[in-house]
Amino acid sequence: MILRWKLRSGVKQNRLYPTTFSIPSEDERTAVQPGDVVKLMFEQSDGWGERMWVRVEKAGRHRMVGRLENLPLGFPRLDIGSKIRFRREHIVDIHDDPAPPPCPDCVYEARERQLETLRSVRRPAASADGGAGDIGMRFVHGECGGTASVD
Ligand SMILES: [Zn+2]
Repeated sequence: MILRWKLRSGVKQNRLYPTTFSIPSEDERTAVQPGDVVKLMFEQSDGWGERMWVRVEKAGRHRMVGRLENLPLGFPRLDIGSKIRFRREHIVDIHDDPAPPPCPDCVYEARERQLETLRSVRRPAASADGGAGDIGMRFVHGECGGTASVD
């Protein structure tokens, strides 16, 4: 089976579950610009979902392009650095204080940590409002402490 993925609209999800599923305001989403790090809801054709961070590279009025900044657990077709096309309506969170972009040494370290996590993680049940799903490995710098320069 070929697994396909898509993004879920945060705006629609918020309309369905206004009290439990909150998203950044329209003004906040409109203000997102290149360099910002935002969270999107990824959903796969087998029902698997993860909410993951993406660093914005291009920001149009509606259409955006970014790079995945998570290590996905259950998305064989996605990896840290994958190019992601999305729209502002998909943004479900905006990072307050993002670290510098991933550097190769720290990505290597993060993959090692992920292998340990994968041994213990069980597939969680998704909640109806999409509130669950923050199970992917968020990238964090290791040895370099976020000081390594990145092109
Ligand atoms: Zn680093």
